[in-house]
Parts: sequence; structure tokens; C-alpha cells
Amino acid sequence: MYADLSLERFMEGLKKRNPGESEFHQAVFEVAASVIPYIQDNPRYRDAAILQRMTEPDRTIVFRVVWEDDDGNIRVNRGYRVQFNNAIGPYKGGLRFHPSVNLSILKFLGFEQTFKNSLTTLPMGAGKGGADFNPKGKSDREVMRFCQSFMTELWTHIGADVDIPAGDIGVGAREISYMFGQYKRLAKEFTGVLTGKALEFGGSLIRTEATGYGNAFFMQEMLAHRGEGMKDKTCVVSGSGNVAIYCAEKIRQLGGKVVTLSDSSGFIHDPNGIDESKLEWVKDLKVKRRGRISEYAEMFGCEFHEGKPWGVPCDLAFPCATQNELCTEGVSQLIANGCMAVSEGANMPTTVEAIDMLAEAGVMYGPGKAANAGGVAVSGLEMTQNSIRLAWTAEELESRLEQIMVGIHRQCVQYGQEGDHVNYVKGANIAGFLKVADAMLAYGVI
Ligand code: GLU
Repeated sequence: MYADLSLERFMEGLKKRNPGESEFHQAVFEVAASVIPYIQDNPRYRDAAILQRMTEPDRTIVFRVVWEDDDGNIRVNRGYRVQFNNAIGPYKGGLRFHPSVNLSILKFLGFEQTFKNSLTTLPMGAGKGGADFNPKGKSDREVMRFCQSFMTELWTHIGADVDIPAGDIGVGAREISYMFGQYKRLAKEFTGVLTGKALEFGGSLIRTEATGYGNAFFMQEMLAHRGEGMKDKTCVVSGSGNVAIYCAEKIRQLGGKVVTLSDSSGFIHDPNGIDESKLEWVKDLKVKRRGRISEYAEMFGCEFHEGKPWGVPCDLAFPCATQNELCTEGVSQLIANGCMAVSEGANMPTTVEAIDMLAEAGVMYGPGKAANAGGVAVSGLEMTQNSIRLAWTAEELESRLEQIMVGIHRQCVQYGQEGDHVNYVKGANIAGFLKVADAMLAYGVI
């Protein structure tokens, strides 16, 4: 029935079933372009319609979230949990609170999570959720009331062996704590149902740092594969949240020099490099004061510009902010300035056309589902620690994280080697696909 499956026909069908969901279409296209040729050569996956099944979430939960703001106004938001695939473990993935959140964005994230979680080699299925709520500018009490109301609906759908949410954009330690407190009260149980918890109630060391550290480790592996290293490389990092901050920290520890950070209003360019003490200041700015990155320029006397940082000359680029932040214009600038590699801390930050340009120019490109898997990997290790009721040391966790990132790189090489270079997109997609696909085949037609 699927013998003549082509990328065009597959995408046509997907778009018809999921009208208007452009981010979801984009994420599926990126995967299908490498997986379809592979399954043509391996017809057992094709004939069992595995890719068709993998692009349809197990279920999607959409709900109303009502809360009261500080002025006594009743506010209404929309909450979601997309339980994408639990073939290889319970649903696992973050919650995003941002005004842009909609089903298309959560389906793209949930779909990506399927491959990312599989690549970690830990037993985690894939999910994603969130709300179109904007925590920015809200008081602490408003955020608490929102989180409690959100969990009042979500709690019946999740559980430590069912679905384990975590943070994503707009959901950090504060939000996880409010949601965990509410879950505990409603379910009358104390389990590791959320990850990214505070250390006092089951959180893991290194979880905060994990996505950023993991991204720097992945870049290090890509460079080492070409006989290069991070030492003295000038690095452009976008974003200024957890991922960007800890990516910058690890780059610095590995000998690189980070010269930019950004937020939605623009970027700072510090040609002297963002050293450890400046990074400590940024952590305080973003986590405690929830301020803007432009304050860095005033504090340390460097330039602040509107727009994106891709025009700043660099050897390595680390998009760590959000989806589609690196387009063809940015990639042209990176190529013109001799950038040799891009490693994605954010999910799908590079557009399809921009990825093609990187490939044509021979710039190494580590896709987010491989390069930023360190975050969910340490979430998986948090689950393990919760299950055995023990806490590992930071050294133990960081070394496990590094091993996992090395393993992900190895899988990308195994499935992505093309002549004398590695196609990391193909490698990550096929390696991630295979483990989930084999489990689904084993279960039969369900
Ligand atoms: N939101 C993160 C991601 O995109 C982490 C998910 C998790 O820890 O479950 O992978």
C-alpha cells in the first residue's frame, strides 16, 4: 500500500490532516526527508506505516485554565498536554508558558521530543505541554495561582510512570515548585511526577545546567571528530535563559570565548568575552531580577543592538533562544564570517532553508534533537534517582551527562556518515527513529 511513498505525498497527507500547523509541518518535514529514503530500503517500517503512526500523537489534551489576577480580574488561558508517543517509556517532555503557545508549536515540540528522548538511550517516551500564559510581568502570586489552576486540571493525566512533565520556555524552578506542590496536594502522593524540581524535594544536581552543558559537549564532539577543539574559538550564543547561560559557562570552561547573549529585544556584544563573574551577574539578572539583557551593556560598558547576533564574527554559533530564530539572512552572515559549526541549544531554531545553506557551505550543524538532549537526559537521571530514592553527586551526574552526549554523537556518526563528512540531521533522525520504530513493530498493530 505504501510502496510508492514519497516525501511530497507524505507531506501532502500530513498537511491535510493538520491544517495550518506550520511549525509541526516543518518539524515533520525535517525528519521525513531523511527517514523516508531509509524506510524505502527497509520496507518492514514502511509497510507497517510506522512514520504515519509516529506523526499522530497518542492523544492531545486541551483545557481551560481560569485564575484571578492581583486586581481581582478573572483571567482565562488555554492549557495543553500532547502525549505524543510512549513506545519506549512514559511520556516525557517540558511545559512551555508563552503567549505564542498553540497546538502546532506543542506538536512540533512533542514530535521532536520522540527522537530526542530516544537518542538519550534512556527509557523515555515523548510529550509536551504548556499554556498561552505569559509569566513575564506577572507577580509571584499571580504565577502561583496560574500554576495551581493549570495543575488542577492536568494532574489526572500525568503520573510518575505515566507522563512526567518538566520545564521549557517560561517554566523554571519557581513554576515547577508551584505545580509540584499542587500535584502533591491533589494526588495525595509524593513521587517524581515532575522533573526540574528543587533539590529539597527530589530535584537533581546539574539539571539546571544540563541542556546548556550538553550542547557545549555536543559541539566539542563535533569539533573533535574533525580534529578540532573549543580552545580560543569565538562563540556567538543567542538567548539568555538557562540554556544560553549554562552553554556559555561550559564553552568558557572548555576554553572558548563567548561574545554575545540576547533576548527578544536584542543582543549584547562583549568582544572581551563574557567571563565567569559576568555570567554570575547574568544569572542573578535573569533568575532573581527577571531583567532584560540590555542591562548587561550598561553594567559592563559594551554594545547593545536590536535584532539577532548572527552578524557578529565567530567560529562557532549556538542558537539557544527559540524556534526559527536563525534564518537564511543570519546563516549568510555566519558563512561570510567563516563560522565552522552550529549547535542548537533551542528546539528547531534554524529554518529548513537555512539548514540547507549550512549543508551546502560545509558548516557542521548539530540539530537540537541531538545537541540539546542533555536537558531531558538529566531529567531521566532525576527520575532514576527518585525511583531508587538516592541523590547522585554533581561529578557523577556531569560525567553521565557527558557520556550520554558522546553516545548521541556516536549514533549520529553511525547513521549519518556520508563519504568523508557526517550528516548530523540524517544521523539523529534515523538513530532516534529506529529505537521507537522497533518497539512499535514489536507491539503489533496498536
Ligand atoms: N524542555 C526540555 C526539552 O526541550 C526538557 C524536557 C524535560 O526535561 O523533560 O527537551
